Amino acid sequence: MSVLPIDHLELTEGWGGSVSAFGYVYRPNTIQGLREVFDLARQSNRHITFRGSARSYGDAAIGAENIILDTSRMNRILNWDPVSGIITVEPGVTIEQIWQYIIEDGWWPPVVPGTMYPTIGGCLGMNIHGKNNFKAGPIGDHVLSFDIMLPSGEIKTATPDTDSELFYSAISGFGMFGVFTSITMKMKKVHSGLLHVKAWTTKNLHELFEIYEKHIPSSDYLVGWVDCISSEEKLGRSIIHQANYFADGEDHNTAQTLRVSKQMLPDSILGIFPKSLVWILLYPFTNNLGMKFINWLRIFVSKLPIIGKPMYEQSHAEFAFLLDYVPGWKKSYGKGGLIQYQSFVPKEHAEKVFRKQIEMCQEAGMPSYLGVFKQHKPDKFLFTHAVDGFSLALDFKVTPQNREKLWDLCYKMNDLVLANGGRFYFAKDATLRPQDFRAFLGEETVKKFQELKKKYDPENIIQTELLRRLT
Ligand SMILES: Cc1cc2nc3c(=O)[nH]c(=O)nc-3n(C[C@H](O)[C@H](O)[C@H](O)COP(=O)(O)OP(=O)(O)OC[C@H]3O[C@@H](n4cnc5c(N)ncnc54)[C@H](O)[C@@H]3O)c2cc1C
Repeated sequence: MSVLPIDHLELTEGWGGSVSAFGYVYRPNTIQGLREVFDLARQSNRHITFRGSARSYGDAAIGAENIILDTSRMNRILNWDPVSGIITVEPGVTIEQIWQYIIEDGWWPPVVPGTMYPTIGGCLGMNIHGKNNFKAGPIGDHVLSFDIMLPSGEIKTATPDTDSELFYSAISGFGMFGVFTSITMKMKKVHSGLLHVKAWTTKNLHELFEIYEKHIPSSDYLVGWVDCISSEEKLGRSIIHQANYFADGEDHNTAQTLRVSKQMLPDSILGIFPKSLVWILLYPFTNNLGMKFINWLRIFVSKLPIIGKPMYEQSHAEFAFLLDYVPGWKKSYGKGGLIQYQSFVPKEHAEKVFRKQIEMCQEAGMPSYLGVFKQHKPDKFLFTHAVDGFSLALDFKVTPQNREKLWDLCYKMNDLVLANGGRFYFAKDATLRPQDFRAFLGEETVKKFQELKKKYDPENIIQTELLRRLT
């Protein structure tokens, strides 16, 4: 390995802040620039890791001593057709850029994550899902074609019909085969800048499943916040939010509600307190007792007649990007950061598995401080995380004292998930072991992964800490 200029050396972190590594970061903004980075890797005998906005929680976009190919400067919208809703973008374009560009023409991205800052390249790498996964599938289902540069420098174009092997493996392939250079997608037509939102508070986990079953057929989006600290008969009590699109002609003020300025999340809470400082207020509460109080407060407020309204209207951005409401909220978890443990379990076992997970966390003295529940449907992508069932995402604070114990807890939860036919998601993962990787993907898919890696990246030049940990 030869030495690279020190001014490119940076400490790169997973979004959760619990894993980090030094790498040599390069930010090209042209196709030729991308090619040069591959050449540099070859000349310096180093591996390459692709990075978008580094919003993956764990080690998917970091690589110790690697060249980090950061695509965030390849951020041009290449083509937009407001009649067909088809958009072509460079890989570093963010979800935020897209929705702000298209909404005034009456379109919205068909699938978005809980934050607007990820890049499209990173979203395809993980094949992200939204609060509408049960209906809209993952983002890959809305991709019409992409161009990808292989480590050889060759650019290939793939669509679901032409080179479908590359299409269904590079999307979901956690950046292992090449770097996306341009992506064409179909957006979703919307007839208002607003959504109809309904909320329900449930007594426990069982009621959460009941309400989901009842309301899923009539929902465009459905998501549950789960209190993972309450126990016994209140275990898994939750607040569910449903959002539905307006029908054509229903909004008489469309031009106004579709304005970008009408979508924006407010800068302050109740018009007084700057949102950028809210994490400081949260800081003293990120412990078991503090979170018990916060969770109680959430449920209490949700039942208040005026504040906890059961039906209201909300802009697309406000509903979709709730987590962006409190910028820097992860800082309230302290220096050790956080991990998110998200498992996907077939519907027939999900209630039992999630109940057990919540109990295991409580028994270990490490209840999750944030639980998010979603429904999913299977998809055709090779490294899919989805199942015909549900997911529960659990956030945990990491400290030097609890780290080992927390990882052990995750290993035990992995065993439980695997015994029930469940799956995991590389975008969130920080704790899977090689045996978990093999078990959830299955031997056939692992073999296919090795074949594809040999075919597209024969020198094994693309590597991440995630890959090193899992294989
Ligand atoms: C607060 C928060 C909420 C979230 N909510 C959701 C959610 O609701 N649903 C969901 O599915 N995910 C969610 N995520 C996860 C996030 O959407 C994914 O991790 C996404 O991949 C991040 O995109 P990124 O641009 O930051 O990519 P990165 O994290 O930088 O990279 C992700 C992967 O893609 C690869 N990659 C990046 N760019 C390219 C490229 N151009 N070509 C090839 N490979 C590339 C990287 O090597 C890496 O393996 C959330 C994350 C956060 C922080």
